[in-house]
Amino acid sequence: MKIIVQKFGGTSVSTHERRLMVINKIIKAKEEGYLPVVVVSAMGRKGEPYATDTLLSLVSNRLKERNKLAIDSLMACGEIISTVVMTDELLEKGIDALPITGGQAGIITDDNYNNASMIRLEPNGILKALAEGKVPVVAGFQGITENGFTTTLGRGGSDVTAALLGVALNAEGVEIYTDVDGIMTADPRIVSEASLIEAISYNELFQFADQGAKVIHPRAVEVAMKGNIPLIIKNTLSECKGTIINNTGDSSLENIITGITHMSNRVQVKVSLNDNKDNENYYSLLNTLAEDSISIDLINVFPEESIFTIDGNDFDKFHNIMNTLGLKYSYIPNCSKVAIIGSRMRGIPGVMAKILKSLNSEKIKVLQTADSHTTIWCLVESKYTDKAINALHRGFSLGS
Ligand code: ADP
Ligand code: MG
Repeated sequence: MKIIVQKFGGTSVSTHERRLMVINKIIKAKEEGYLPVVVVSAMGRKGEPYATDTLLSLVSNRLKERNKLAIDSLMACGEIISTVVMTDELLEKGIDALPITGGQAGIITDDNYNNASMIRLEPNGILKALAEGKVPVVAGFQGITENGFTTTLGRGGSDVTAALLGVALNAEGVEIYTDVDGIMTADPRIVSEASLIEAISYNELFQFADQGAKVIHPRAVEVAMKGNIPLIIKNTLSECKGTIINNTGDSSLENIITGITHMSNRVQVKVSLNDNKDNENYYSLLNTLAEDSISIDLINVFPEESIFTIDGNDFDKFHNIMNTLGLKYSYIPNCSKVAIIGSRMRGIPGVMAKILKSLNSEKIKVLQTADSHTTIWCLVESKYTDKAINALHRGFSLGS
């Protein structure tokens, strides 16, 4: 059996016209001799009637905080509606199809509601549909606990569903269809000259996704890489050949930088010894934050002070902890962590200098930097994010 998993994101299934383009991709796969297994997201984005955020707006914040199980039952509806609408239109075109929920697809997860992880996948229902000549249309983003309660896999989780199915079904490949031509050197909504990356390694794409490029969920990249399943990102709305993800990326590329992405809503925190002289808690702060599940990054520890960033959503919790510990701190809210990614920058001198030159030329203040073999991060105030990304994109000549 030559199975291919085809995942279609929210914008791809949002209107009848777009769903016709989706059907064309499914027909093409069938014509090429594949058995398509289709995964769909909820229809449309925030504001549209069946999008996940719209469903969430039906209930109180209290329920969101206190009853994650109930929220998962609500959020899972968007994808289920999508499977039925898609099935209707496939049948209309003479293609036999079957809508399948995450639970019916055999995606068994733990009970970490809102962000569950798969324990195992029992794809019998999908295999049966395929054997009967049907196109299974699977609801992305969801699974089921051992006890039969619906779970969701975290925002963007339909990508994860597609990768998990690809591995479990030993598919020839996983195709992620979205509303852009593939992975670009930067978010095309921010950089109009962003160019398509024709091939990228799993590792680099993971960095991209993990550092904020929401074009694919990082866990989906990880799952496909571990399962050694070919991954491709394509545009539902065009015939562009998309981005192929493999082990090596494009070895013919000369540019040492592959692309730029960012994460917003970061808060930079400074805690200095001078302000907290007689407070023993100063020395165990990072431990305490870890115990309270506040994740920190861009961590610089100096003899006289510690500097790090936290997620803006954790700020109230952080503030309460600092109060309880009696620790003083200063902070800069609304920062963005810009990530410059390129596995070829390893050992090449002058990359940081060029980054700072590009940012200085736009008079953008760099609040902090960090680097690894494949990524350099610069923290800037969020109001400069787009300007910073564009300046770096030009500085490294990433445009088409
Ligand atoms: P879907 O609904 O298909 O899952 P998403 O909105 O999750 O689509 O992801 C697609 C979006 O990701 C694009 O519209 C684009 O704005 C954004 N994006 C961010 N960074 C990149 C990048 N480097 N390359 C391509 N798209 C990117
Ligand atoms: Mg997505």
